[in-house]
Amino acid sequence: MKKRIFVVLLVLLVAFSAFAKGDSEKGPATKADDKVLTGALASATPKEFTIFLNFNNMPFNMDWPVWKKAAEMTNVSFKGIIPQSNSNEEEAFNLMLSSGDLADVIGFKSIAVLEELGRDGGLIPLNDLIDKYAPNIKALMDKDVVFRNASYSLDGNIYNIPKNQELFSAEYWWIRNDWLQKLGLQVPSTVDDLYKVLTAFRNNDPNGNGLKDEVPLFDRAGWKMPDEYLYLWDTSTEFYVRDGKIVFEPLEKDFKVGVKNIVKWYKEGLIDPEIFTRGPKSRDVLLSANQGGLTHDWVSTGNYNNTLAKSIPGFEMVAFAPTMDQNGNRVERTSRFPGVGWSISSTAKDPVTIMRFFDFCFSPAGYELMNWGIEGETFARNADGTKAFTDVVMKSEMSPLGYLRSQGVQYRIGMKQDQNYEYAFMTEAGKKATKLYNDNLDWFRLDQAPYADGVLGLRYTPEDESAYQKIMGNIRPYVDEKFQSWMLGTADFDKDYDGFVKELKSRGIDKAISINQKAYETYMKK
Ligand code: CA
Repeated sequence: MKKRIFVVLLVLLVAFSAFAKGDSEKGPATKADDKVLTGALASATPKEFTIFLNFNNMPFNMDWPVWKKAAEMTNVSFKGIIPQSNSNEEEAFNLMLSSGDLADVIGFKSIAVLEELGRDGGLIPLNDLIDKYAPNIKALMDKDVVFRNASYSLDGNIYNIPKNQELFSAEYWWIRNDWLQKLGLQVPSTVDDLYKVLTAFRNNDPNGNGLKDEVPLFDRAGWKMPDEYLYLWDTSTEFYVRDGKIVFEPLEKDFKVGVKNIVKWYKEGLIDPEIFTRGPKSRDVLLSANQGGLTHDWVSTGNYNNTLAKSIPGFEMVAFAPTMDQNGNRVERTSRFPGVGWSISSTAKDPVTIMRFFDFCFSPAGYELMNWGIEGETFARNADGTKAFTDVVMKSEMSPLGYLRSQGVQYRIGMKQDQNYEYAFMTEAGKKATKLYNDNLDWFRLDQAPYADGVLGLRYTPEDESAYQKIMGNIRPYVDEKFQSWMLGTADFDKDYDGFVKELKSRGIDKAISINQKAYETYMKK
C-alpha cells in the first residue's frame, strides 16, 4: 500500500519537473555529437550524469579507477547519489523516490520494482534509443533470445538493460570420484544407476572407517532440495513448461514416479536424514567429515579438492552429467538468466548520450574494461591474446573478486560477463565442471522462462499478480506440507493422491495455471 502511494507521488513529481524543464534540452545536443564522435566516445565534450546504484553494499563510487578510465575513453562520467556511508539499497531507493529527485541513471535489485517505476512514468522506454544509438546492445538482442526476453517488460517496453552472462550453467551434479573408484563403480548414467551407486555408498563403507556413517545424497539448500531431487524424474512441486504449455507438475504422471522414488530413497537412508534441518553448512560439514557422497551445487564444490587434500587423502569431487530419467531424457533444470542492470530516468537530460555509454559497455573495449579492469594494472595480455589477472588481483588480501570490485570491475550494470573472467577464478575441477555443462546446452530446456530456485520467474499484470498470489499462497504451503509428510513417511502417498488433486482443484490451481500460461506467452512473444 505504502509503495503505491510513493509511486503516485513520484509520478506527480516527475510530471511537474518534466513540465518545468521542458523537453527541448533533449534534442539538439545529439545532432552536433553525431558528426564528431569517434572511437569509444559517447559524447564530444565531457558530460557528467547522476547515478543511483548500490551493489553488494557498495554505493557507486566515481573514484573507482575503472570508471575514471571509462570517463577518459567515452567522455562520460557518473556521480553516485548514494552517500558512501549508506549501504541500505532499499532505504536509499525509497528516499530517492520520496524526494522526487531521480538520478539520471537508475539500477535497483528488483526488476519488478524497476518495471513498475517504468510503467508509472519514472523511467523512459529504451526501445527506440537502442535501435538508434546502441548497435552492440541491438546485435546481442538479435543473437541472444534469453537476453532479449529478459530485457522486455510486460508492456512491451524495455526499461532495463540487463546484466548478462556468457556461461549458462548454474549448479552441477557432483560425486566423490575416489569413492566410486574404491568401490569399483562407474559414474552413474541413468537414474537407476544413481540409485545403485547411492546404495553402495550407503552400505559398502567407502570412507573406510568401519561405520555405516555415509550420507550418500546431501545438499546445503535443504529447504528447497527435496523438490530439486524430483528433477531426477523430470518433475517438481512447481510449474513447468511442456511443449509451450504451462503445467503444474504435481498433477502430471511423472510426479507420481518421482515422489514414490523419493519416499523409497529416504526410507533406505540414501538421502540425508537431516535434509530439512541441517542448514547451509551441510556441504562443509559433510564433506569435511568425509561422509557426504553426492550433491547438486555450484562450481565452488570443486574447491574442496584443494582444501581437503591433506585431511582426506585422495578426496576428489567431480562433476558428472545429469542422469537420464525414466523417459530417456537428460535434463539440467537450473541455469542462470540475465539479471537486473540499469535504466534511464524520465528526468535525465540527455538520454542519447547515456544510451551511447550503455552501448560502450557492450562494445569490445567496454566489455574488456568492465570485466578485467585496466591493462597493466589489474590484468595483463598474454602472447596468444588471452588475458590473465595480475598478482595485485590474485594475491590481494581482499580476495581477487573483492579487489576487482574495489576498482569498479564487475559492478551491477548492463553488461555482459566474460566467461574467461569467471574461468580465471575456478579450480581445475570447477573448470572441468563448467565446461562439461556449457558444452552440452542440449541438457537445458532453453524455452523455459527463467527458472530460479525451482520457480518460474514470470511477470504478471498487477491484477493477475494479486489473483495469482492469493491462489498460490493457499496452494504452496499445502503442497509442501503433503510432500514432506510423504517423504518422511508420516502419510501414505498412494492413499492421499486423489484427495490431494481434488484439494488443489478446489484451491484454484486451474486458474493459477491459466494466469501462468498468459504470462509465459507474453514472455515468449518478445
Ligand atoms: Ca563409513
